[in-house]
Amino acid sequence: LLSLEGATVRFDGRAALDAVDLDVAEHEIVCVLGPSGSGKSTLLRAVAGLQPLDAGRVSLDGRDQAGVPAHKRGVGLMFQDHQLFPQRDVGGNVAFGTRMHGASKSEQVDRVRELLDLVGLPGAARRAVASLSGGEQQRVALARALAPRPRLLMLDEPLGQLDRSLRERLVVELRELFGRLGTTVLAVTHDQGEAFALADRVVVMRDGRIAQTGTPLQVWQRPVDEFVARFLGFDN
Ligand code: ATP
Ligand code: MG
Repeated sequence: LLSLEGATVRFDGRAALDAVDLDVAEHEIVCVLGPSGSGKSTLLRAVAGLQPLDAGRVSLDGRDQAGVPAHKRGVGLMFQDHQLFPQRDVGGNVAFGTRMHGASKSEQVDRVRELLDLVGLPGAARRAVASLSGGEQQRVALARALAPRPRLLMLDEPLGQLDRSLRERLVVELRELFGRLGTTVLAVTHDQGEAFALADRVVVMRDGRIAQTGTPLQVWQRPVDEFVARFLGFDN
């Protein structure tokens, strides 16, 4: 589905993304791990079309995306600070995602109901965003990101602001949900436990490059080098 070949992004001559090759298959859930500043968000932004490449290419379904604007790529991106619209109710926030497809009013109402059921917030459409807990707001943001039925859903620290027990619960739910929908997912996280619970495959980044990729078990059992081992916490 997604393919990066030699994808490179430079800021002031320094490569934030350094000749990255990565393939993501349809229905695959890939988690990107790595220290702060290793290029994780830049990778997602480049795939989404929010960050032009200095070299290399991003392809979706085998088509080079150079020059294809973000809204025409069919990918969804959910940022860490999920940026819900506080002045709109829950339904209004989710409908914002569906409107991008030019759906009719009644189609939107049905779709919003379906999406809220999906993320475990049935009947919440008329509630004010401010009345929701942090975890509920994350679910609304997820429903909004899923609304246009993206073929590739990208999540940048989707559970970043939540406490551990809620994260652990949501990760299990997300994995089940993505499996049921067949969603292809590329998710960034700081949290190894989260990545290992969610991912079919993990990608460990370092200085704009991919240090290792493999199934969670492979990476856990056989880190390729000391950097990966240390990042996974083997020395403490
Ligand atoms: P974090 O875990 O802190 O979110 P990250 O892995 O997502 O980190 P990126 O945001 O991709 O890291 O940034 C990679 C590098 O590129 C960093 O050194 C960052 O300072 C730099 N960078 C990112 N965006 C810009 C920008 N718009 N202008 C200049 N430098 C940038
Ligand atoms: Mg980031």
